[in-house]
Amino acid sequence: MPGENLCSLCREPAVVRLVEPERRLCAAHFIDDVEARVLAAMTRERMVSPGDRVAVGLSGGKDSTALLLLLHRFLPALNASLVAVTVDEGIAGYREGTSAAARDLTSELGVEHSIVTFADLFGDDLDRLLVGREAQGCTVCGVLRRRALAEAVKQVGVTKLATGHNLDDEAQSALMNVLRGDLSRLLQDTSTGQPGHFIPRIKPLAVLSEKEIVTYLLLRGYFRDLPECPYASTALRSEVRTMLAGLEHRHPGTMLRLMQFREGVRQSARSAEPKGSPGSCRICGELSTGEVCQACRLLERDKSPRSSAGGRR
Ligand code: SF4
Repeated sequence: MPGENLCSLCREPAVVRLVEPERRLCAAHFIDDVEARVLAAMTRERMVSPGDRVAVGLSGGKDSTALLLLLHRFLPALNASLVAVTVDEGIAGYREGTSAAARDLTSELGVEHSIVTFADLFGDDLDRLLVGREAQGCTVCGVLRRRALAEAVKQVGVTKLATGHNLDDEAQSALMNVLRGDLSRLLQDTSTGQPGHFIPRIKPLAVLSEKEIVTYLLLRGYFRDLPECPYASTALRSEVRTMLAGLEHRHPGTMLRLMQFREGVRQSARSAEPKGSPGSCRICGELSTGEVCQACRLLERDKSPRSSAGGRR
């Protein structure tokens, strides 16, 4: 009957309505739908091969929680193994709760878990590194967290790093790179890694919106309402998120089309003249497009006159 809110597949009461293709799903069919879409993306993009040891970057927040649950379900059948790595930046009032959630989940699932801290790696917590430059929170954090994650996966010895980036994150990043005029970041594809430097990264959740992930966790009983990072509101991302959410609400499919646009630009660039590969940082030896990498520039800043970090989240 018109107006009935029933599952398109079984006629049970529906809990969600999805677009492209338009369908209503009950709780059980929505869980199946999410899992099937993630598995299809992993298969289509050959994200995991037999024998892979995959690290999940587990913050304990909603995205990485869903990612760990899904990979814990899929990897045994793909003959691949799983480990979780958590970076504790040292953000008072925020990271304690998410780190505890990460520990609870890995212990419940029986997944190996390794934690690295900014204090151990860089000599101080993020809170202290940011004194006097709080407005740059996400820029500094993003650069150092990438370095910390690279160090963490080196320590546990893996072949792939899976991150919990969802469709909203990817669409926001694409738009931020456009707004900053940062073509090299718009084109950057980290899925293949760099020999001797960072390992290939995979993003199995990039086919799911943030709302779908929250719904999936609620339906599976894993949603935890955790505080938001105190620095989040200072970031350009926060404004882009609000703008894109409004556009997506008024024009469903906006984020997907933005992703298709980015993929089109990347494909065009791939067929153009290849550029020389990046060099190594003269201080730490990690991959860098300049003489000194972003992380070393940020950390050196405390010992020298103030200079621009120039990082990105
Ligand atoms: Fe780091 Fe910004 Fe994320 Fe907070 S919101 S964890 S400062 S990147």
